[in-house]
Amino acid sequence: MMTVPKVIDIESIYKTYKNEGLETEVLKGISISVGEGDYISIVGPSGAGKSTLMTILGCLGQATSGTYLLDGEEVGELNDRQLSRIRNEKIGFVFQAFHLLPGVSAFDNVMMPLVYCNKTPKGADERVERALDRVGLGHRMGHTPGQLSGGEQQRVTIARSLINDPKIILADEPTGNLDSKNGAEIMTTFDQLNSEGRTIIVITHDTVVAEHARRILTLRDGQIVSDRINETFQKS
Ligand code: ADP
Repeated sequence: MMTVPKVIDIESIYKTYKNEGLETEVLKGISISVGEGDYISIVGPSGAGKSTLMTILGCLGQATSGTYLLDGEEVGELNDRQLSRIRNEKIGFVFQAFHLLPGVSAFDNVMMPLVYCNKTPKGADERVERALDRVGLGHRMGHTPGQLSGGEQQRVTIARSLINDPKIILADEPTGNLDSKNGAEIMTTFDQLNSEGRTIIVITHDTVVAEHARRILTLRDGQIVSDRINETFQKS
Protein backbone atom coordinates (compact mmCIF):
# COMPACT_ATOMS: atom_id res chain seq x y z
CA MET A 1 0.00 0.00 0.00
CA MET A 2 1.26 3.47 -0.85
CA THR A 3 1.84 5.61 2.23
CA VAL A 4 0.65 9.19 2.04
CA PRO A 5 3.15 11.71 3.46
CA LYS A 6 1.98 13.41 6.64
CA VAL A 7 1.55 17.17 6.57
CA ILE A 8 0.48 17.39 10.19
CA ASP A 9 1.50 15.10 13.00
CA ILE A 10 0.66 16.21 16.53
CA GLU A 11 1.28 14.00 19.47
CA SER A 12 -0.04 14.38 23.04
CA ILE A 13 -0.75 18.09 22.79
CA TYR A 14 -1.72 19.80 26.04
CA LYS A 15 -2.65 23.46 26.38
CA THR A 16 -3.13 25.25 29.66
CA TYR A 17 -4.06 28.93 29.88
CA LYS A 18 -2.79 30.79 32.92
CA ASN A 19 -4.64 33.95 33.90
CA GLU A 20 -4.21 35.82 37.17
CA GLY A 21 -3.13 32.68 38.98
CA LEU A 22 -5.91 30.56 37.47
CA GLU A 23 -4.89 27.63 35.30
CA THR A 24 -7.34 26.25 32.76
CA GLU A 25 -6.39 23.06 30.98
CA VAL A 26 -8.12 23.32 27.60
CA LEU A 27 -6.46 20.60 25.50
CA LYS A 28 -5.79 17.32 27.25
CA GLY A 29 -3.58 15.08 25.17
CA ILE A 30 -4.58 15.52 21.54
CA SER A 31 -2.91 13.41 18.86
CA ILE A 32 -3.82 13.83 15.20
CA SER A 33 -2.11 12.72 12.06
CA VAL A 34 -3.15 14.28 8.75
CA GLY A 35 -2.01 12.91 5.41
CA GLU A 36 -1.31 15.18 2.48
CA GLY A 37 -4.48 15.93 0.52
CA ASP A 38 -6.85 14.87 3.28
CA TYR A 39 -10.09 16.68 4.10
CA ILE A 40 -10.88 16.85 7.80
CA SER A 41 -13.53 18.51 9.88
CA ILE A 42 -13.25 19.11 13.59
CA VAL A 43 -16.57 19.40 15.40
CA GLY A 44 -17.61 19.73 19.01
CA PRO A 45 -19.67 21.88 21.35
CA SER A 46 -18.73 25.44 22.24
CA GLY A 47 -15.90 25.44 24.76
CA ALA A 48 -14.55 22.06 23.65
CA GLY A 49 -11.23 23.61 22.61
CA LYS A 50 -11.67 23.82 18.84
CA SER A 51 -10.35 27.36 18.44
CA THR A 52 -7.46 26.63 20.77
CA LEU A 53 -6.55 23.61 18.67
CA MET A 54 -6.84 25.76 15.55
CA THR A 55 -4.35 28.32 16.92
CA ILE A 56 -1.88 25.54 17.61
CA LEU A 57 -2.35 23.85 14.23
CA GLY A 58 -1.98 27.27 12.59
CA CYS A 59 1.24 28.06 14.51
CA LEU A 60 -0.48 31.11 16.00
CA GLY A 61 0.22 29.84 19.51
CA GLN A 62 2.36 27.18 21.11
CA ALA A 63 1.18 24.13 23.00
CA THR A 64 2.10 23.77 26.69
CA SER A 65 3.48 20.32 25.93
CA GLY A 66 3.49 17.73 23.17
CA THR A 67 5.04 17.66 19.74
CA TYR A 68 3.93 19.12 16.44
CA LEU A 69 5.52 18.16 13.14
CA LEU A 70 4.31 20.42 10.33
CA ASP A 71 5.38 19.11 6.95
CA GLY A 72 8.30 17.42 8.73
CA GLU A 73 9.43 20.43 10.80
CA GLU A 74 9.19 20.40 14.61
CA VAL A 75 7.20 23.55 15.35
CA GLY A 76 8.04 23.59 19.08
CA GLU A 77 11.69 24.32 18.29
CA LEU A 78 11.05 27.35 16.10
CA ASN A 79 11.47 30.98 17.14
CA ASP A 80 8.86 33.65 16.32
CA ARG A 81 10.44 34.56 13.00
CA GLN A 82 10.65 30.95 11.90
CA LEU A 83 7.07 30.38 13.05
CA SER A 84 5.76 33.20 10.90
CA ARG A 85 7.78 31.89 7.96
CA ILE A 86 6.40 28.36 8.23
CA ARG A 87 2.89 29.77 8.73
CA ASN A 88 3.11 31.91 5.60
CA GLU A 89 4.55 29.10 3.52
CA LYS A 90 2.42 26.18 4.57
CA ILE A 91 -0.94 27.44 5.79
CA GLY A 92 -3.77 29.50 4.36
CA PHE A 93 -6.30 30.81 6.89
CA VAL A 94 -10.01 31.37 6.48
CA PHE A 95 -11.90 32.74 9.49
CA GLN A 96 -15.55 33.27 10.31
CA ALA A 97 -15.07 37.05 10.31
CA PHE A 98 -13.58 37.83 6.93
CA HIS A 99 -10.84 40.21 8.18
CA LEU A 100 -10.75 42.09 4.87
CA LEU A 101 -9.50 45.65 4.75
CA PRO A 102 -12.52 47.90 4.23
CA GLY A 103 -12.51 50.36 1.34
CA VAL A 104 -9.76 48.40 -0.41
CA SER A 105 -10.37 46.40 -3.60
CA ALA A 106 -10.62 42.60 -3.65
CA PHE A 107 -7.43 42.66 -5.73
CA ASP A 108 -5.49 44.60 -3.09
CA ASN A 109 -6.91 42.50 -0.25
CA VAL A 110 -5.65 39.32 -1.92
CA MET A 111 -2.30 41.01 -2.61
CA MET A 112 -1.91 41.84 1.10
CA PRO A 113 0.08 38.72 2.20
CA LEU A 114 2.56 39.40 -0.61
CA VAL A 115 3.05 43.00 0.44
CA TYR A 116 4.19 41.77 3.86
CA CYS A 117 7.20 40.20 2.14
CA ASN A 118 10.12 42.59 1.88
CA LYS A 119 9.39 43.32 -1.72
CA THR A 120 6.45 42.29 -3.82
CA PRO A 121 7.50 39.16 -5.71
CA LYS A 122 7.67 38.99 -9.49
CA GLY A 123 4.40 38.02 -11.09
CA ALA A 124 2.38 39.09 -8.03
CA ASP A 125 -0.38 40.69 -10.11
CA GLU A 126 -0.89 37.49 -12.11
CA ARG A 127 -0.94 35.43 -8.92
CA VAL A 128 -3.65 37.63 -7.44
CA GLU A 129 -5.69 37.46 -10.63
CA ARG A 130 -5.35 33.68 -10.76
CA ALA A 131 -6.41 33.31 -7.12
CA LEU A 132 -9.48 35.48 -7.66
CA ASP A 133 -10.34 33.62 -10.88
CA ARG A 134 -9.95 30.39 -8.94
CA VAL A 135 -12.80 31.36 -6.60
CA GLY A 136 -14.96 32.75 -9.41
CA LEU A 137 -14.35 36.42 -8.69
CA GLY A 138 -12.28 37.37 -11.72
CA HIS A 139 -15.00 39.89 -12.63
CA ARG A 140 -15.09 41.52 -9.19
CA MET A 141 -11.43 42.36 -8.65
CA GLY A 142 -12.00 46.09 -8.32
CA HIS A 143 -14.88 45.79 -5.86
CA THR A 144 -14.37 46.67 -2.21
CA PRO A 145 -15.73 44.39 0.55
CA GLY A 146 -18.68 46.76 1.01
CA GLN A 147 -19.61 46.22 -2.64
CA LEU A 148 -19.58 42.43 -2.32
CA SER A 149 -22.03 39.95 -0.76
CA GLY A 150 -21.00 37.98 2.34
CA GLY A 151 -20.36 34.89 0.23
CA GLU A 152 -18.22 36.88 -2.19
CA GLN A 153 -16.25 38.41 0.68
CA GLN A 154 -15.54 34.96 2.04
CA ARG A 155 -14.39 33.87 -1.40
CA VAL A 156 -11.98 36.83 -1.42
CA THR A 157 -10.52 35.53 1.85
CA ILE A 158 -10.16 32.07 0.29
CA ALA A 159 -8.33 33.65 -2.65
CA ARG A 160 -6.11 35.48 -0.14
CA SER A 161 -5.44 32.21 1.69
CA LEU A 162 -4.27 30.64 -1.59
CA ILE A 163 -1.86 33.37 -2.59
CA ASN A 164 1.27 31.68 -1.21
CA ASP A 165 0.16 28.29 -2.56
CA PRO A 166 -0.06 26.66 0.89
CA LYS A 167 -0.31 22.90 1.34
CA ILE A 168 -2.93 23.32 4.03
CA ILE A 169 -6.06 25.44 4.34
CA LEU A 170 -7.26 25.93 7.92
CA ALA A 171 -10.78 27.26 8.17
CA ASP A 172 -12.44 28.24 11.45
CA GLU A 173 -16.26 28.38 11.14
CA PRO A 174 -15.94 29.58 7.52
CA THR A 175 -19.71 29.60 6.98
CA GLY A 176 -20.61 31.04 10.39
CA ASN A 177 -21.52 34.48 9.05
CA LEU A 178 -23.26 33.26 5.90
CA ASP A 179 -26.76 32.12 4.97
CA SER A 180 -27.12 28.50 3.91
CA LYS A 181 -26.91 29.19 0.16
CA ASN A 182 -23.68 31.19 0.43
CA GLY A 183 -22.35 28.70 2.97
CA ALA A 184 -22.96 25.84 0.55
CA GLU A 185 -21.08 27.72 -2.18
CA ILE A 186 -18.11 28.25 0.09
CA MET A 187 -18.05 24.55 0.95
CA THR A 188 -18.16 23.66 -2.76
CA THR A 189 -15.06 25.82 -3.20
CA PHE A 190 -13.29 23.90 -0.41
CA ASP A 191 -14.39 20.59 -1.98
CA GLN A 192 -12.81 21.63 -5.27
CA LEU A 193 -9.59 22.78 -3.62
CA ASN A 194 -9.37 19.41 -1.88
CA SER A 195 -9.97 17.50 -5.10
CA GLU A 196 -6.95 19.36 -6.51
CA GLY A 197 -4.83 17.89 -3.72
CA ARG A 198 -4.93 20.65 -1.13
CA THR A 199 -5.23 19.52 2.51
CA ILE A 200 -8.30 21.09 4.12
CA ILE A 201 -9.11 21.31 7.83
CA VAL A 202 -12.44 22.87 8.74
CA ILE A 203 -13.48 23.66 12.28
CA THR A 204 -17.23 23.93 12.62
CA HIS A 205 -20.21 23.30 14.86
CA ASP A 206 -22.41 22.78 11.77
CA THR A 207 -22.94 19.11 10.93
CA VAL A 208 -23.90 19.87 7.31
CA VAL A 209 -20.54 21.63 6.87
CA ALA A 210 -18.69 18.83 8.67
CA GLU A 211 -20.15 16.20 6.32
CA HIS A 212 -18.19 17.69 3.41
CA ALA A 213 -15.00 16.24 4.86
CA ARG A 214 -13.62 12.73 4.40
CA ARG A 215 -12.84 12.36 8.07
CA ILE A 216 -14.67 13.85 11.03
CA LEU A 217 -13.05 14.38 14.43
CA THR A 218 -15.15 15.21 17.46
CA LEU A 219 -13.60 17.22 20.25
CA ARG A 220 -15.18 17.32 23.68
CA ASP A 221 -13.74 18.82 26.81
CA GLY A 222 -10.26 19.04 25.30
CA GLN A 223 -10.09 15.48 24.04
CA ILE A 224 -10.86 13.71 20.79
CA VAL A 225 -13.80 11.46 21.53
CA SER A 226 -14.43 10.26 17.98
CA ASP A 227 -12.42 10.02 14.77
CA ARG A 228 -14.46 8.56 11.94
CA ILE A 229 -14.38 8.24 8.18
CA ASN A 230 -17.37 9.95 6.57
CA GLU A 231 -19.11 7.23 4.52
CA THR A 232 -20.95 9.84 2.44
CA PHE A 233 -17.77 11.61 1.35
CA GLN A 234 -17.46 11.92 -2.39
CA LYS A 235 -14.39 13.34 -3.98
CA SER A 236 -15.58 16.11 -6.28
P1 ADP B 1 -14.30 26.27 21.17
O1 ADP B 1 -13.63 26.90 20.00
O2 ADP B 1 -14.53 24.80 21.01
O3 ADP B 1 -15.56 26.98 21.58
P2 ADP B 1 -12.14 27.40 22.76
O4 ADP B 1 -10.85 26.83 22.33
O5 ADP B 1 -12.50 28.76 22.28
O6 ADP B 1 -13.31 26.36 22.43
O7 ADP B 1 -12.21 27.43 24.33
C1 ADP B 1 -12.05 26.29 25.14
C2 ADP B 1 -11.94 26.71 26.60
O8 ADP B 1 -10.76 27.46 26.77
C3 ADP B 1 -13.08 27.59 27.07
O9 ADP B 1 -13.44 27.16 28.35
C4 ADP B 1 -12.47 28.95 27.12
O10 ADP B 1 -13.06 29.73 28.14
C5 ADP B 1 -11.01 28.68 27.42
N1 ADP B 1 -10.11 29.70 26.83
C6 ADP B 1 -9.98 29.98 25.52
N2 ADP B 1 -9.06 30.95 25.32
C7 ADP B 1 -8.60 31.29 26.56
C8 ADP B 1 -7.64 32.23 27.05
N3 ADP B 1 -6.93 33.01 26.22
N4 ADP B 1 -7.44 32.29 28.39
C9 ADP B 1 -8.14 31.48 29.23
N5 ADP B 1 -9.04 30.58 28.83
C10 ADP B 1 -9.29 30.47 27.53
